Amino acid sequence: MRSFEHTGSPVRVVFGAGTLGALRSEVERLGRRRVLLVSGSSQPDVVERAAAGLGDLLAGRFSGAAMHTPVEVTARALESASDADVVVSIGGGSATGLGKALAVRLGVPQIAVPTTYAGSEVTSTLGETADGVKTTRSAPEILPATVLYDVDLTVDLPVATSVTSGVNAMAHAVEALYSPDADPAVDALAEQSIRLLAAGLRRIVTDPADVDARADALTGAWLAGTCLGAVGMGLHHKLCHTLGGSFGLPHAGTHTVVLPHAIAYNASAAPDAVARVAAALGRDRDAAAAMYDFVVEVGGPTSLAELGFRAGDVAEAARLATARPYPNPRPVTEEGVTELLTDALAGARPA
Ligand code: NAD
Repeated sequence: MRSFEHTGSPVRVVFGAGTLGALRSEVERLGRRRVLLVSGSSQPDVVERAAAGLGDLLAGRFSGAAMHTPVEVTARALESASDADVVVSIGGGSATGLGKALAVRLGVPQIAVPTTYAGSEVTSTLGETADGVKTTRSAPEILPATVLYDVDLTVDLPVATSVTSGVNAMAHAVEALYSPDADPAVDALAEQSIRLLAAGLRRIVTDPADVDARADALTGAWLAGTCLGAVGMGLHHKLCHTLGGSFGLPHAGTHTVVLPHAIAYNASAAPDAVARVAAALGRDRDAAAAMYDFVVEVGGPTSLAELGFRAGDVAEAARLATARPYPNPRPVTEEGVTELLTDALAGARPA
């Protein structure tokens, strides 16, 4: 018998096409009247439409969201509307992160409108960078109150970004399946999210404007993000955090390269979980090779070398990624991570 504890997510989710049109009513639903609207620099037309829809509820706006939520950017954004009573973020994980940083500082709720598959919008975790050092914290008040998923906003997400962002989402689901905190509900969400992301991405690469494929991928991203918000992650996420934070590698691309190797690392210690991954990818075994082949099929990056990582960095990255213990199916050793990184650097297909 399997014992478990489960706490359901309180996030309100609105999903569909054209849901950006419901932004004003969602602000009103929270009983708020002064919106700070934050975004990155992509999709200015979308931000303009959101601003127009908010009308007299718009108190201020800021479009300078940056990767890893630098605290100086947050301070500048705060100047845009320090009397805001709700924060609305539109964009990928960077915009969502800025929205979280602002909402938690102002003590107000957040409405997130995600435009990538990162999943941050349904987690209570915030990573921020100060003086070049990224620290992460979790607290219930960081979790956005409402998420508006508008499939139309993802249609312009470039194919290459769709692929890496989608595999980034799959990584949340894979590590949820072998997390010590997992439960039957998380297992079901994780498997279904990998299925939907795989099906969606396979069609997006041939037709990026396929709205049904986009809907599958975004639904999968929501489910994967829910897994990320519900249970602790293992080696894969810690390693990608190190590679992004200390070696400047791109967030989603790094997840895409490392995931097959992290699955290979843990396969012998979590056979049931990796069997579910293989099945969700349409294979009856060899989850690590199946994930590698999937990344190749959809044209994603397969080697850390192509992302700018160098052989001379392997030893230091392995040391940093194993400096502190954390739960993982197979014990995390410096030697094991060195081997993993060496394979990922070269882009070797896991056997
Ligand atoms: P991102 O938000 O930086 O977006 C990547 C690029 O795509 C940016 O240039 C952005 O402007 C552009 N873009 C976004 N949506 C677009 C669209 N629909 N069309 C065209 N261009 C678009 O990257 P990301 O991978 O979404 O997020 C990465 C960040 O999120 C990292 O800082 C990561 O640490 C954080 N993150 C946090 C959590 C969490 O739970 N706290 C979870 C996942 C990611």
